[in-house]
Amino acid sequence: MDSTKTHGAKQQTKQKYIFVTGGVLSGVGKGITAASIGAVLQAKGAYVSIQKCDPYLNVDAGLLNPAEHGECFVTKDGAETDLDLGHYERFLDVELTQKNASLAGRIMSELIADERAGNLRGKTVQVVPHFTNAIQDKIAEAAEGSDVHIVEIGGTVGDYEGLAFIEAIREFAAKVGRENCLYVHVVYVPFIGTSKEFKTKPAQNAMHDLRSFGIFPDAVVVRTEQPAPASVAHKISLLSGIPQDYIVDMPNVDTVYRIPPNIADSSLHNLLSKFMGNSTAPDLAKWQKLIKLVNSSPKKTVKIGLVAKYIDNEDTYLSVLEALKAAGWEVGVGLDIVWINAETATDQDFAAVDGLVVPGGFGGRGVEGKIAAATYALEHKKPYLGLCLGLQVSVIAAVRRAGLQDADSTEFNPATKNNVVYIMEGQQGKESTGGTLRLGDYTATLRSGSLAAKTYDQTKIIERHRHRYEVNQKFKNHIEKGGLVISGTSPDGKLVEFVEATDHPFFLATQAHPEFKSRPFKAHPLFVGIMKAAVDKKA
Ligand code: GLN
Repeated sequence: MDSTKTHGAKQQTKQKYIFVTGGVLSGVGKGITAASIGAVLQAKGAYVSIQKCDPYLNVDAGLLNPAEHGECFVTKDGAETDLDLGHYERFLDVELTQKNASLAGRIMSELIADERAGNLRGKTVQVVPHFTNAIQDKIAEAAEGSDVHIVEIGGTVGDYEGLAFIEAIREFAAKVGRENCLYVHVVYVPFIGTSKEFKTKPAQNAMHDLRSFGIFPDAVVVRTEQPAPASVAHKISLLSGIPQDYIVDMPNVDTVYRIPPNIADSSLHNLLSKFMGNSTAPDLAKWQKLIKLVNSSPKKTVKIGLVAKYIDNEDTYLSVLEALKAAGWEVGVGLDIVWINAETATDQDFAAVDGLVVPGGFGGRGVEGKIAAATYALEHKKPYLGLCLGLQVSVIAAVRRAGLQDADSTEFNPATKNNVVYIMEGQQGKESTGGTLRLGDYTATLRSGSLAAKTYDQTKIIERHRHRYEVNQKFKNHIEKGGLVISGTSPDGKLVEFVEATDHPFFLATQAHPEFKSRPFKAHPLFVGIMKAAVDKKA
């Protein structure tokens, strides 16, 4: 089966499209809404595909500042995307690819390349129809084979750069039939504390904006901080002409995983059923089970220290946090995330937690704190999970412990003699071209009997990658003297994929990003491993 499509019986219906747009402001849960609509349709047996269209002029999300945009999510084929693809993968339990993330910069650069190649036969290249057609081609391509294709348009309607996308999805309905398209607009309705009232004016204006571009939405999802009275939907309905039934309040909830059942319980579900011609009751058992787990009160709670550079935006490490939470649910132990600022961290911070996680990162800021975390974990037998950079700092820590004090990565200290992490031969000089990252799925062979192999219960695994530097195996003896062994490599043995500590309850680090493959319903073994080790340490 094409893994970009979700499970469920293939139905012989005409392909449907659901477009999710946003108004008032961004960041109010459009991605979760899109993913949740998909989850409900999947639970009704539909074959769902999903795509994010991002109007900003970047070619991919690889170079975006994670402190502003949240984490860069990586797909199995190495697309560097924004974090909504992570929501989609977790909610729909699928593995997406490059075609599920379409950024204006990429579509535009392909269009310009086409023009340069003379493929546009002397035509004046215009936003309409050339760019809008190119957007529609991307949508059609990503939709192939599914019963219903969900397209989320990034940003808010009315943004300059988004106009071509709004026009493209308007035109799309003319091509495939309006009856095969459902437009869902997600708006924010603020509650004004002083006058104690919900204010629908910004939402009204947002509806107005969308209509002015020729799109009359079928449903409106109203995001509020607290449940809103029916008068809010009534007012929006009155002023927009959309039936009140299809204006659905989605207040903040304890967990995002409650949104699919909430949608299934709302009148939006009737609309989805009618639209799809599918009256099957959704099977939401797995969601209900998950919500129960999220709300259970485990007997024990562990403190996991996340040694991080960006500590004021949870989105920066979203997949790592979701992976830890999922592991906590699976193991039946509470999770208390302790943010440890890598730039100011001391041994006291490391001592105060039951386990340490060092996530991925680029650049030298905070690296010494991360090396100190790995050193502390090695010396005090503190459970440790290293992810990508988290592996590299643990190797640096081990080699320094073995006596080479200036051991470093050439990323942080290009002149170091003891370049235990480095750019391999053939890769030098290309560091800033953006083309030398090792991205997406790679296989690793794990040494049988190792902690890595035991944790995975396998000796051949596939994980996603996003890094440029590699462990320099010339320092193997020092790595071992410092307390670590190489327990997983690329199948040809050239690249180090896993290291682990000997004589330690749980110290495991991977060059990959396993967090991207964790699912709320199925925690990733490495995260289960650190959670279990952290509880054992506590006992
Ligand atoms: N900066 C390191 C590298 O490029 C680690 C990357 C990461 O943690 N994703 O190799």
